[in-house]
Amino acid sequence: MDANDPLKKFREKFYIPISNGADCIYFAGNSLGLQPRSTQDYITNELENWANFGVEGHFYMKDPWFSYHDFFLTKLSKIVGCNENELVVMNQLTVNIHLLFASFYRPTKTKYKIICEAKAFPSDQYAMQSQAQLHGFDPADVIIEISPREGEHTLRTEDILAKIKEHKNELAVVFFGGINYYSGQVFDMKAITKAAQSAGAYCGFDLAHAAGNVALQLHDWNVDFACWCSYKYLNSGPGNIAGVFINERYATDEKFPRLTGWWGYERSTRFNMDKDFRATPTAEGWQLSNPSILDMAAHRASLEILDEAGFENLVAKSKTLTGFAFFILEEINRSAGKKIITILTPINEEERGAQISMLINENGKKIFDELKAEGVIGDWREPNVIRIAPVPLYNSYEDVFRFGEIFKKIIC
Ligand SMILES: *Cc1c(COP(=O)(O)O)cnc(C)c1O
Repeated sequence: MDANDPLKKFREKFYIPISNGADCIYFAGNSLGLQPRSTQDYITNELENWANFGVEGHFYMKDPWFSYHDFFLTKLSKIVGCNENELVVMNQLTVNIHLLFASFYRPTKTKYKIICEAKAFPSDQYAMQSQAQLHGFDPADVIIEISPREGEHTLRTEDILAKIKEHKNELAVVFFGGINYYSGQVFDMKAITKAAQSAGAYCGFDLAHAAGNVALQLHDWNVDFACWCSYKYLNSGPGNIAGVFINERYATDEKFPRLTGWWGYERSTRFNMDKDFRATPTAEGWQLSNPSILDMAAHRASLEILDEAGFENLVAKSKTLTGFAFFILEEINRSAGKKIITILTPINEEERGAQISMLINENGKKIFDELKAEGVIGDWREPNVIRIAPVPLYNSYEDVFRFGEIFKKIIC
């Protein structure tokens, strides 16, 4: 499979951390994507521009900082499936959740509830709770979490849609992960959006685990808003600048409510420094500050690689690579003669991305620590879940095979 892999050469474009003197088996790209070898050059280039041009670098050099943002639009719009005027790269993820809620969560006395998945990422939960409080509500009254049925690990779309319908008179926003970070389940974003909008609510997604991982069609699915970070499957570096999608029916509406700053001001007249705000008539109208160019340089380096690989090719490889990991995990259970591993992530290709979450039925932490000592980097979630994410850009089928051999050695 590796010999026939058209993306094989992309592994060489990344630094693979070393463990016990050899490349580790890096299965944590769902947490922090690896560093492209080109990132340093992109950052150094902007440091040199700063040294050579000072403030003139904003306008008067090749690739001026003022319009640096434009480098992202074509490449990112292919990854998340939207029009270029629906996209902005700015801030960090949780900050953007708040900015989007400032626009899309405008509750009234009767329509004020938020529906989300149970076990949403903690930062998302805190953001939603504080938004409810900011509007004078009790979060426990506002937030409706949808949990899996008794004995199940993932949500059924029919249950999500039914819950939305049940609360339609009081629902303000549906805010879901595109992929749940804990289970790895991909949600049916198109169906959820349609149901939310039929209930007269806005629908948004946190795509931290979906962007750069699975095929998205935000525009065609008619999603209202979405946001993601760039340091997981987008490999742009720890805590780096994040992305936002705002459906063009709001993005082009200069009067749509938002929190504003000078970098969202209409571009050609921004430096007139006028008193009253005039929005850029695209998602860029949500920008507040002039962005960190060093951060953006790292994001640019990584997007160049993703674009060269071709996102469709990555998604295709991801399906077989993670499919192979499912096979290996089942084989571990077979060779142990008992169910050591219970897989939480749906095996169905449409309902999963690269990540597999598994419940280790005994000695989970011990197995995790031994895997790590043998050079496997995954991640651990209390009480007994190991998550692994073979990433098509830099992981190989051999990585998955070797992982299986190491796992079997540990449990035998
Ligand atoms: C990774 C992740 C975050 C992290 O938030 P930051 O603001 O980037 O620190 C938030 N939400 C989800 C769903 C995540 O997966």
